[in-house]
Amino acid sequence: MLDRHAPVFVAGHRGLVGSAIVRRLEAEGFTDLRTVGREVLDLRDQSAVDSWFDVERPRYVFLVAGTVGGIHANTSRPAEFLYDNLMIHGTVVQAAHRIGVEKLLYLGSSCIYPRLAEQPIMEEALLSGALEPTNEGYALAKIVGIKLCETYRRQYGDDFISAMPTNLYGPGDNFDLEGGHVLPALMRRFHEAREAGEATVGVWGTGNARREFLHVDDLADACLFLMDGYSAPGHVNVGTGVDLTIRELAETVRDLVHPGADLAFDASMPDGMPRKVLDVSKLAGLGWTAQTSLTEGIVSTYAWFVEAAERGDLRL
Ligand code: GDP
Repeated sequence: MLDRHAPVFVAGHRGLVGSAIVRRLEAEGFTDLRTVGREVLDLRDQSAVDSWFDVERPRYVFLVAGTVGGIHANTSRPAEFLYDNLMIHGTVVQAAHRIGVEKLLYLGSSCIYPRLAEQPIMEEALLSGALEPTNEGYALAKIVGIKLCETYRRQYGDDFISAMPTNLYGPGDNFDLEGGHVLPALMRRFHEAREAGEATVGVWGTGNARREFLHVDDLADACLFLMDGYSAPGHVNVGTGVDLTIRELAETVRDLVHPGADLAFDASMPDGMPRKVLDVSKLAGLGWTAQTSLTEGIVSTYAWFVEAAERGDLRL
């Protein structure tokens, strides 16, 4: 179990995941959280990261920083997604090793798995087939992150672990219509259509792709659970184990935000992976399951979005 008074570095504390981890650690009574903004520390720069670790000397690290985005951002900026993430994962893992960090959690993504992996996807499916092309750069960097944790454990005995979350959503998400993920984009599009009195709302792709969605507060809880009790080389899937089609998702958001609106599918936009749902039996076997239902999570996240938009406080 982690010492609640030890210095903890949350790398990426302003993002969807990092901000949820900070909330979770604060609620748990952690007294010494260390964070740093990207304008102060470029996590891609090894010597800058080493200097920062030399001064702050965290005992634990949550490595949840990175360049992230939805299917369109991934396809239009593949080099950034590969380079930034590769570098950030490498510098932080190496710096943590160098100063003797006691435990590090690395956060991957379910896109590390092959495009045509057997569903629900088990941890063992990693590197068993070709990747989904729409997010290959990001997935490659994430696979390297897992392998960094595994190899540093094998060669140096570092207690570095990895968790693979499914598609995430929640407060603090990126509501940018081009760069973000499907759920925030749909909430915003239905919201704006209702405000403008428009009866039709666009949805990318065919609507047939299947995805699983996990509330980010559940993910943060799982991360702390694993940091407290899991210490082994294999990565661990984090999800709900339940998926739905993008059409069903859009209809759920529509019914909550703009009932009666028509959906217009734009099949010129990519579907990405045909289906992506995690087998979560490993984590369930360790004693953790997700608590937030999708409808509950969409309702609370939508309420957060409306308030943040009114405050002029959205990440767009
Ligand atoms: P992915 O799991 O990496 O594909 O993540 P996304 O959240 O970007 O996309 C999930 C699915 O939702 C894909 O099949 C998209 O085509 C579909 N989708 C429908 N409308 C949107 C939208 O407005 N934005 C995004 N990002 N995806 C959308």
